[in-house]
Amino acid sequence: MPITWPLDSADSNLNRCRQNSLPVSQSRTIQEECYEANLQLPKFGLVDLTFGNVSVVDRASGVFGIKPSGVDYLKLKPEDVVLIDLEGKQVSGTLRPSSDTPTHRRLFQAFSGIRSVVHTHSRNAVSFAQARKPIPCLGTTHADYFYGEVPVTRPMTGAEIQSAYEWETGNVIVERFGNLDPEQVCAVLVSGHGPFAWGPSGAKAVENAHALEIVAEMAWKALQLNPTVKPISQALLDKHFLRKHGPGAYYGQ
Ligand SMILES: [Zn+2]
Repeated sequence: MPITWPLDSADSNLNRCRQNSLPVSQSRTIQEECYEANLQLPKFGLVDLTFGNVSVVDRASGVFGIKPSGVDYLKLKPEDVVLIDLEGKQVSGTLRPSSDTPTHRRLFQAFSGIRSVVHTHSRNAVSFAQARKPIPCLGTTHADYFYGEVPVTRPMTGAEIQSAYEWETGNVIVERFGNLDPEQVCAVLVSGHGPFAWGPSGAKAVENAHALEIVAEMAWKALQLNPTVKPISQALLDKHFLRKHGPGAYYGQ
């Protein structure tokens, strides 16, 4: 039985939420935030067909919402957003969650400071992922969002691909961030696959995925014009990233 919308008139759904210790108001918030963030993907031109998904976690209840698998963005409704707990159990919704759900769950587990994960097959970022090259920081547009190059994972092994593929995709990302701060570099390229980005809200994570696509296109063109171009200086990187992020930030309102 699908969750009705709004939740407050449906006793059976209220009970289902109580059984899972998830406050109804939070459930609504996660589903709405996740729904709105998913709708931003086609608006920003970040998805072809249905290749893309956004998830949003509520840390207090340990539950995240994610786009259902294979549902057209134009037909998506807030109540279609599937709720999953951080152990992987589906706690509400009748639709199947995105097949990438285990990757999102792995990132929520490993990166405790993030609230939303975005996966797309946006074309310029995918081009770097397929070339198995990181996106170097060639300018201040990049430095405003990412503190250094956007890394690429190692290729996955046959055993990883044949076992719990989506979970292992999360593991190779976590492995790549062994000496990186996911709050300073809020995106990654999965080798031979595509980008994942994240952030403190659904809207911000989608903005980061959008920025990633823009800087991937800029870097690709800059490398065509000058194949030996070097990344910008540490001083310029520091100036642009740190004026927008961290304790000394002063950019914006
Ligand atoms: Zn994918």
